[in-house]
Amino acid sequence: MKRQGRALPARNLNGHAARADRVHGAPRRGGLCRVSHDVNLYPADRVLRAREAAAAQGVDALLVSPGPDFRYLTGYQALPLERLTCLVAPAQGEPFLVVPLLEKPAAEASPAGALGIEIVGWRETDDPYQLIARRLGGAAKRLAVDNHMWAEKVLSFRAALPWAEQGLAGTVLGELRMRKSPAEVEALRVAARAIDTVHQSMGEWLRPGRTEREVGRDIADAILAAGHESCDFVIVGSGPNGASPHHEVSDRVIEPGDPVVVDIGGTTADGYCSDSTRVYCAGGEPKGEYGKLYEVLLAAQRAQCEAVRPGITAQELDAVGRDAIAAAGYGECFIHRTGHGIGLETHEEPYIVAGSARPLEPGMAFSIEPGIYLSGRYGARIEDIVVCGEESGERLNTVPRELRLLG
Ligand code: ZN
Ligand code: ZN
Repeated sequence: MKRQGRALPARNLNGHAARADRVHGAPRRGGLCRVSHDVNLYPADRVLRAREAAAAQGVDALLVSPGPDFRYLTGYQALPLERLTCLVAPAQGEPFLVVPLLEKPAAEASPAGALGIEIVGWRETDDPYQLIARRLGGAAKRLAVDNHMWAEKVLSFRAALPWAEQGLAGTVLGELRMRKSPAEVEALRVAARAIDTVHQSMGEWLRPGRTEREVGRDIADAILAAGHESCDFVIVGSGPNGASPHHEVSDRVIEPGDPVVVDIGGTTADGYCSDSTRVYCAGGEPKGEYGKLYEVLLAAQRAQCEAVRPGITAQELDAVGRDAIAAAGYGECFIHRTGHGIGLETHEEPYIVAGSARPLEPGMAFSIEPGIYLSGRYGARIEDIVVCGEESGERLNTVPRELRLLG
């Protein structure tokens, strides 16, 4: 769980833009500092695969700007800047990478420099949009622009190529990114192990008498200490705040017996994300029907994880948990989809949601995170990242899911 639409930049607990804060003490300058040269994780044939997929969808050229799709295709962790950096991948013809001249050394030193793709530097007085328009020419009638491209760049492309229709590159690239390679699954496993160690240590920070914000700060530090490059979000929802799935932290003081929903995630240096939720209860047993509610949720989440297999559709998997929760009388209290795909973004395809007839396939990675929320009282959510294997699912998060009572 993470509030949609604010991934770039997310605010961390100190009010800094979390993504921009990934590299501590050093700005992220693409190939000049920390980059992954893991050719298994970022293989060189992805641009070719993307061009083939574009051709199959009738797209004449992909225009991919810095962000997750760009990194997926090139391995280059370029910064989104006001100056245009863009991978141009025509369905027919050679791909090329357009970068500001002052970024060219970084691009060449990055994994993109080893792809065998021409890197074209543009000077401050050049118009990079016209440069790309000239190279593509009038035959480029259907362009697919990066889903995260800044609007000013999208409109500049429209002005430079007025004859071309614009669509979204995500429609092409999402289909590729959704099916993870073994190296990507391993990168997600590493991220999951890192976030698991934070959950395992929760007793060090989560205590009655502390505020959610105080606990959240400690968790954010621990997420970095556990091996993430950035802390992307921290939700500490105590007592009634746990009933709001997108609560972050507040100055509410945690009381004895409060159930506390802790949903946390970060990104590793490889670019892959973690996301896991557990519920804690500090300083006493939870009150009222909470124990019963939690058992219902635990069983529903387990049933969903066990139902993962190739061929089951996203909506069928959603229904496995939703039906179990509804049968126990909490149907109205499960107010969001079951889960989301995860990889280079915390939220990506495939979404595990009613209405999606997409069959799961080996290599798809997604969260299973049903929740039960009683407004004004308390809430519960259990979240694991699961990868669909050849026959069943593998839960990448392995921390016990039972309600954990802390000192
Ligand atoms: Zn989450
Ligand atoms: Zn999630």
